[in-house]
Order: sequence, then C-alpha cells, then structure tokens
Amino acid sequence: MTGTRTTSDDGAMTETGGRRPLPTPAARPHPTQRLIRHNDILDLVVQNASLSNILQVVTGMVEREIRGCRASVLLLDEPGLHLRAAAAPSLPAEYTAAIDGVEIGPQVGTCGTAAYEKRVVITTDIATDPAWVPWLGAAAEAGLAACWSTPFLGLHGRVLGTLAVYFDHPCAPAAGELELLHDAGHLAAVAVQHDAVRRLLHDTHRTHPLTGLPNRVALTERLRAVEADAVETGDRFAVVQVAIEGMSHINEGLGPTVGDSVLRTVAGRLGRLIEGRGVAAHLWGCDFVVLVVGLLDDDDARTMAEQIRSALTEPFDVEGMTLVVDVSIGLSTYGSDVLDAGDPADEPLRTANVALERAKLAGNQVIGVYDPHSDPGAAVRLLAPELRRGMDDEELTLAYQPVVTLGDEKLDHYEALLRWASPHGTVSPEEFVPVAEQTGLVADLGRYAFSRALAETARVRAAGRDVGVSVNLSVLQLSDEGLPGRIADLLGEYDVPAHRVTLEVTEGVLLNSAKGWGTLARIRDVGVRVSLDDFGTGFSQIGYLRRFRFDEIKIDRTFVRDMESDVMARAIVVGTIGLARAADMDVVAEGIENRTQADLLRELGCTHGQGYLFGRPASTPSAT
Ligand code: C2E
Ligand code: CA
Ligand code: CA
Repeated sequence: MTGTRTTSDDGAMTETGGRRPLPTPAARPHPTQRLIRHNDILDLVVQNASLSNILQVVTGMVEREIRGCRASVLLLDEPGLHLRAAAAPSLPAEYTAAIDGVEIGPQVGTCGTAAYEKRVVITTDIATDPAWVPWLGAAAEAGLAACWSTPFLGLHGRVLGTLAVYFDHPCAPAAGELELLHDAGHLAAVAVQHDAVRRLLHDTHRTHPLTGLPNRVALTERLRAVEADAVETGDRFAVVQVAIEGMSHINEGLGPTVGDSVLRTVAGRLGRLIEGRGVAAHLWGCDFVVLVVGLLDDDDARTMAEQIRSALTEPFDVEGMTLVVDVSIGLSTYGSDVLDAGDPADEPLRTANVALERAKLAGNQVIGVYDPHSDPGAAVRLLAPELRRGMDDEELTLAYQPVVTLGDEKLDHYEALLRWASPHGTVSPEEFVPVAEQTGLVADLGRYAFSRALAETARVRAAGRDVGVSVNLSVLQLSDEGLPGRIADLLGEYDVPAHRVTLEVTEGVLLNSAKGWGTLARIRDVGVRVSLDDFGTGFSQIGYLRRFRFDEIKIDRTFVRDMESDVMARAIVVGTIGLARAADMDVVAEGIENRTQADLLRELGCTHGQGYLFGRPASTPSAT
C-alpha cells in the first residue's frame, strides 16, 4: 500500500495524502437542502421507480454536493464476488465497461478493496496506487486521478455495493464530504434492498411455492405472448393439462412430506422434458400445465403428451420408498385460429381442462383431446350472444299447451312454453334456457314469459273462458327478491285471478338456500299456485315436499312413458299420486301420448293430464 491510500474501519478518514482545496462555504449545500434531496430519493423508492433510475438520481445528488466529482455506484452480485456497474452517468462508457464484473479483493482498485474490506477506501492518487495497476490505462483515458469509495451494507452487514466519487486531480476529502458520501451510500442501500424485496414478491407472486414452477399468473402471461405469435406466424402450440391422480392416497397414507416430494419430482421431470420447447407450470394441488410451442402438427402435440405420461409414470424414489402415480392428461392445440376463441387469453386453458375432464371420465389411460362438439361451455359462448340478439329482435315467443282435468278431459289451464325461432332454425328451450341461466339472461326471459302469458290469458278470459295459466320459473329467478312484488303488480295489471296462475319450479341450486325458499314463500303469499315440476327425476324432491307447501306435483314424462313396461316407473307414478292425494295436492301427469296412458292414470287417481293426446303446444291458447 502506498501513502496515498488510506482505509478506515469506522468511516473516519486518516489523511496521509495531499489535500484537495476546500470548497468555498457558499458552494456547500445547507443541511435542510440535503434533507429535501434525501426525501426526493425516498419518494422515488416509495413510488416504485426502477432501481437504475433511483441510483442515477443518487449519483446526480452526490455530484451536485461534492464539487468537481463524478459519482458511480457498483453493486455486488449474488454470491458476493463481483461488482457490477449500476449507475455512472458522468463516467465514459469505456471506463465503466473496463471495471464491470471485477472480482473484489484486498488490492482491487478503490471500490473492489472497499467492498472486500467493508471500509471506506480513499485513493488520493490513482497513478501511484499499486491496487490500481490493472486499470491505470482506463483511468488515465477517462481522466481520473483520485477515487474515494464507501461500501454500503444491507441486512446482517452484507455488502450490497459501493458508492464512489472520482476526481480529475489527486485529492482527499474535505470536512463533511465523507459523511455526505456515507449518507448517499445509505440511500443507495435503501433503494437496493427495496428492489430486492420487490423482486422477491414478484417472483413469489409468479411461482408455485412448493415446486417453484411458474404459477397460473406467469403461465397466462406466457400464453398471451405465445398466442400473439401464433396469430402472426400461424405456428401451432398446445396446452397439455396434467392431473396427478392418487395424490390424496399418498398424502393420507404416507404423509404430506412424501406427497410434497412427489409433486416436486413431477415438477422437475416436467421442467426437464419441456426445456427449450415451452414451459411447465404448476396451477394448484395436483394440476400442472405444459405449454408446448413450435409444434409441427397436432400429432406432434400428442407425441409430447405421450412423453409426459411416460415421464410421470416412471416410479419415484421418495424417502427410501418407490412410488408410482397415475396421470390424467387433457390436450388442446391452437394456431392462428386461437383468435376465434371467445376469450383468447383463457380459452386454451379452459379447453385443455375440458379435455382433461373427458380423459378422467374415459379412464383407461386415454389422452383427452379437446373436441368443441362435446363442450357445453363452447355452446354457451356461441349461443349466448345469439340469444341476447334474438331477445332484442323479438324472436322469442310462447307456445301454449293444454292441461286437462283427467276426469272429463276438459281444459283446465295452459302451460306457457318458450319458443325461439332463430334465423338458423328453431332452438329448443332445453338448449337455450340453460344458456340463459348461465349468462344472467334468465331474469329478462322469465319476466317476458310471465307478462306475455298473463296478457294472452287475460285475452282468452275476456272472451268468456275461465282458463288458467302456468309458467315455468327458473330457480335462479328466486335470487331476485323483487320477484313476488312484480308478480303481484302484473296480476293486477292484467286482472287475472291469482289462484288461476301457477308457477312451476324444478329442483335446483337456489332451493338449497334459505333465500330461495323465502322468495318462493312470498310468491305463494301473493296467492298464485306453486308446482313442483319434473317430479321423480331429482334427488331432493321428497325433502322439498316436507319443506314447502306445494299446490301441485307434475310427474315427469319419462315415468308416464315407461309405466306400462317398467314396474319401478309404475311404482313411482302410483306412489306420487298417493303422496299428492294424502297431502291434498293436485297431480299432473306430463307426456300423455295415448289413450292407454290416460285411462291408466285416471284409474290410479291422477287429477290432471298434459300431453300430445290432449294437444301439442300451439302459438295461441285459443287455437287449441
Ligand atoms: P317442462 O316444463 O317439463 O315442459 C314440458 C315439456 O314436455 C315441453 O317441452 C313440452 O313440449 C313437452 N311435451 C308436452 N307434451 C308432450 C308429450 O306428450 N310427449 C313428449 N315427448 N313431450 C311432451 P319443451 O317445450 O321443449 O320445454 C322443455 C323445457 O324447457 C320445459 O320442460 C322447461 O323446463 C323449459 N322451459 C320451457 N319454457 C320455459 C320458460 O318459460 N321458463 C323456464 N325457466 N323454462 C322453460
Ligand atoms: Ca313445466
Ligand atoms: Ca316437466
């Protein structure tokens, strides 16, 4: 070491070299001024400005406050061995490049030594310092003659980097200047640590904590990029969803530590398999997705899926045991056609999942390949906008089917049934009512059906016939607590007596909630009748009968169809009629198509009948 270079443990300086001339007092910033600048930098940290941006501002501040200096920040890499240039706005790029990546050590320039020894190092004259020998040329080229460097530290005293100032003439710090350098180094440390936390959070947010694979968030981002490429280039890609089966047995039988090891091994195998060809992600639990890019064709995707299966069904050596798991695999492939998908970002993931569910149903190691024809979700997406348009364009109407009293086969009331004449042909309510239920259109549809049916019934009643009407209600409409009030209003508006109006409900989710039952009770309080439709097909209907005072039960048409040939169907018909009679409810048999059925049902004591024998649904009630 030469006399021009001094180190100090506590940051205090021991001067042995030449002094630089003291700056004039006017040039020194006032302490409050400095505080304001510090606050500016902390504001940048709080506002999540980029690290390089903040470090540039720190060096700028130092350059303003220590006259004639050029400042630089170097950051120590993760293993703590090398310094990387992070900010040096006033130094020539060639010089910065020359010192970038230098390994720290006891005799490595000013900064390398400062980082290594965790001390302020002051080189008052670079030209005479042996520690600078390898960089003398670069320093001379850049016009650098002196350098003072302070390491800044993070948690547990770990060196994060160095903040250095350079001068074009040999010199040592004046009073207060080292303190200033030290303060600025502290700000750099705050920024660097904040950045590390931010990156950690970012990674945590994007990886699965157990396996470290990208999670759904990261996968979706990557998928968006792949989709954009596919649209541009037509390149095909595949989403392979993989479910590890039997994990609950492993967790229950061998414990969660073994289960975790299996999942980590799965992750490792998937990661290695896909390396360079896409990305493996861990969605949750036992569900993984492999995104495969650059496929030649769809067979290529299938080959990849097969490879995934063979890789994962190889035995695992975990904690001294050999385990085997089974996997279910669903596959969907896309190219530029990904644009046609409703919500392109999620669609490939959704369809791979549909394919996976199909594979699970099929069993037998089948790889499920997505098929839009057996995807109810696709039907909903395609049909929903059409249905909305059809409702606006008044393509929906009602058909009226007679319900007779079986004793005399005279008309009692009509059931109003929705019809949709779309430009592509007639669509069955069995198809579009579920779509309306899944897309929130069912409330509008129900409102329309009810008011239209009342208007039509009022017209027939005005002509002197005492007919009633029944309207189907989706259980989802029961989430609308305003419904009973609106029903009462419409009854008043059309002047149809409440007891001649029936609302038919089937088993459904809302009847598992107190709110649904509450709305139904308030509907009945309005005075209308409530009917339990499709009786015999659901799981909970007997329970419903105990819970609610229905006015009527409708025996599902499948029992009427089968009652002559199937003893169980007949037993259910007999039982339902007995139940209804005992509880003083009307009972309507649906789907009566022939006289034998009508006669048998009458003999069994069924009160009402409906079916093609008495009349098909027709466009106006009066016409039947
Ligand atoms: P549902 O309430 O059980 O209606 C009876 C269905 O049986 C009707 O089918 C009717 O046309 C049919 N049908 C009547 N007699 C016979 C027969 O003798 N033989 C056979 N094979 N079938 C017969 P549709 O009109 O296709 O309606 C199907 C389902 O759509 C209805 O079943 C109901 O669940 C639903 N739906 C219809 N209109 C509405 C509505 O306005 N709102 C709601 N939420 N659902 C409706
Ligand atoms: Ca019905
Ligand atoms: Ca029915």
